[in-house]
This record gives sequence, structure tokens and C-alpha cells, in this order.
Amino acid sequence: MSASIPRPDALAVPGSSPMVPGVAYVNLGCRVNRVETDLIADELARAGLEVLPEEEAQAVVINTCAVTAEAEAKARKAVRHAASLPQAPLVVATGCMANLFADELLALAPNVVVERDKSRVPTAVLDGLGVGALAVGDDGELLAERIAHATPTPTGRTRPGIKIQDGCDNRCGYCIVWKARGVSRSVDALRVRELVLRSLDRSASEVVLTGINLGVYRSSLPDGSKIELPGLLAWLLDTTPVGRIRLSSIEPPDVTPELAKTMAASHGRIAPFLHICLQSGCDATLFRMARIYDTVLFRTAVEQARSLLPQVSLGTDLIVGFPGETDEEFERSLSFCREMGFSRMHVFRYSRRPGTPAATAPGQVDLHVMAARSARVRQLAREMREREAERLVGREDLVCVQAPLRGVSGGLFDVMLDVECPVDEMVPVCVTGVASDGTTLLGHVLA
Ligand code: SF4
Repeated sequence: MSASIPRPDALAVPGSSPMVPGVAYVNLGCRVNRVETDLIADELARAGLEVLPEEEAQAVVINTCAVTAEAEAKARKAVRHAASLPQAPLVVATGCMANLFADELLALAPNVVVERDKSRVPTAVLDGLGVGALAVGDDGELLAERIAHATPTPTGRTRPGIKIQDGCDNRCGYCIVWKARGVSRSVDALRVRELVLRSLDRSASEVVLTGINLGVYRSSLPDGSKIELPGLLAWLLDTTPVGRIRLSSIEPPDVTPELAKTMAASHGRIAPFLHICLQSGCDATLFRMARIYDTVLFRTAVEQARSLLPQVSLGTDLIVGFPGETDEEFERSLSFCREMGFSRMHVFRYSRRPGTPAATAPGQVDLHVMAARSARVRQLAREMREREAERLVGREDLVCVQAPLRGVSGGLFDVMLDVECPVDEMVPVCVTGVASDGTTLLGHVLA
């Protein structure tokens, strides 16, 4: 770290109390990264550091991603940008790219430090700024308290994420996430409940459980009994007043009848939404990807979920242009997606990751072909989302209010409310129609 980092008492920032240095957060990548960034922000808020825009901050924490070549380029750009700001802030880079390519990030500028262990990032910031833990606002109130009560997360996010699992033991041919994040491990159930209760204390009514491979969650309850994801969900519903729990993405083999039954029995306290990562709708491509299921298993999981949870909406991830993907394979994948009737699709063009088996596989697909395939899938995704929105008209739903006249439905649709409601509230609505954009629901708030 160069001497250009200013000493703490020189850290006066216009409009904020002179005593209190500020931190900016740049989050790149997945929902797990977001949750981790919120946890870091939470800890630094408790140490009295304010959240400030990059241009005003004495430190910038950048949680990097390495899932695609584009993600890495974004990370490098974010680090360079922060490091070259006029106030030369301390830049702390962490995350998947920091784990895989630390030297590359360190070489970008003298005021960059890399901290691979996310739990140590707050210390790296405090040490780097040479500041103590607690700071007091002008009115003598502990700054931490003031920040803690403002929003469910210090970075202003409603519907906070709760990371319950990290790492992965699978070895999909295109993926380096498992290299960056290590073996699969679960957060203890008691700790998960503590994090849920903390979010509720901060007025959240919906929390999103997230992980790199969420469905392989394993833990024990205080009575010693072993649980998996469905067991954790049932226990959290029994032992906390959480309004709604949402699941982030899950692998197909983990969409079990037990999970669907637990969701169905929750009467809407578990969001009727499953984001099941398909990646390809063609068995030959899935086999080359080294995915651990085929379309028969995927279809069965979906049919079971729909039979137990008729109102469930489905999301998915799909890769186009995986090495060896022929036109015929792509058409098969596309028609399988159409059959599944997804209401939400994240479409990725295959990105060559050095060190993965797919990077050296024969049949690398032309970028123009990938672009054309991606455009066709996005078109289908749009059509299916509009169709699903129409399907929901006339139904009742629970909406998590994000702004006085807007919220998010159980199936992860945006909803325009007909009366103003308090932010973070859960309100019952009847879906009366679809807005002109074709995918936003119109919700009549029920008393
Ligand atoms: S399941 Fe596959 S794609 Fe997902 S993190 Fe694990 S190895 Fe990567």
C-alpha cells in the first residue's frame, strides 16, 4: 500500500461528520457476492464507517466476479477506476477474481490491496485507514446504531439475501466458480436464523436464501437432528416471524418432492418461485457440460413441483454456444425451454474460461452464431414471461412492497399497487391485469 493513502484525521468529507471515514461498495457478479458485500458493509457500519459514493469515500471495497471473461474485464475496470479517483482511496479487492488472479489486481495500482478472505475485509479497511472501531455522530449517538436502523442492509437493499451455503463439489465443464470458492460448506442453522432475525429487526419482511449450490445445504438443529434445505425452511418458518422466504437459484437434482411439499405447506411464506439452473435443454450438450442430470430428470422435477405447487413460477439459467453445440442441439434446447414455460430466463453466451475442460474442447462456436442464438432465446423468454403474466391475472398473491406503489410478487414479477403501502410490508393483492409493458402486474390491494 503506497504512502499516498491519507492519514485518518485528514479524511474530512464534505457533509459527513469529520470524524467518520466513508466506504463505497462495488458489487460485481452473483447474489452470493451481493450478500457478502452487505455483510462486509454491515460490519463496517457497526464500526461506524459511513456508506458514501465512490467519489467521496476513503476506501472502496470491490467484490469481484470471475464467472465469465466479461466479468473479469469489469472487475479490472472497477479496480482501475476506484484506484485512480482524485482522493486516491484505499481499494480493497476481494471475491472470485481476487482469489484466482490476485497478482493481476495488485499490479493495477499502488493503493490496491487484495483480501481473499471476505471475513477479513473489514479489518483490512480499518487497518488500511488507520481508524479505530467505533465513531460517534455529532449528536453523540453511535453512528452504527443510526446506520443499522435505516434499511434492511447498509447498502440500502430491501429483501436482503442470507448466504447459507458456499463452494461447490460439482465440476461443470465451463465453470471456475468451484476453483474460486472451494468445497461445498453450509452455514450452521442457528447462525442462519440469527441472520434472518437481524434482517427482520431491520424491517425486512422477505429474505432470500442464497448459496453457490444452495440445494446441497446440510446442518443440524439444536436438538441434534440432521436437516437439509426443506428442513431448514420448515424450521425457520416455525421459529421466526419472517413474512416470506425466497430461494435463489438451485440445481435440478435438489428440486425434490419434499422441497415442493414444504413450499406448498407454507401458504405463501415460501415464495412460489423456483430458479432451476438448466444450462441446456439438450442431453448431448448437458453430457458434454458434465452436468449431473438430464432433461428427463429436469422435466420430472418441474412436473412434481407444479403438481404440488400449481401457482409456482419458474426461472432458469441457459448457456448458448457451448463447444460442440450444433444447430440441431440448439433447436432441441430451445424447444425444451418452450415446453418448460419459464417465466424468467438468464441467458449467457458461453465464455471460455482458462483452466476449464470446455476451454480446450473441440467445436468452439462462432461468436456471431452465439449472438444469434442468444437473441432467439431472449425473444422466447420475453414471450413466455408475458404469457405467465397473463396467467396470473385474477389470482391473489402476496406482494413485498419495495416503494409506496410498487412491489414484488411471489413469482418475482414487478407489481404496480393501486394504493400506497409502507415499504417492506407484505400486502395481499388481487392481480387485476398486466401493464402496457406486458410483464408488470397490476395489483389491487386487498384490505
Ligand atoms: S454447480 Fe457447476 S456451474 Fe454451479 S458452481 Fe458448481 S461447478 Fe460451477
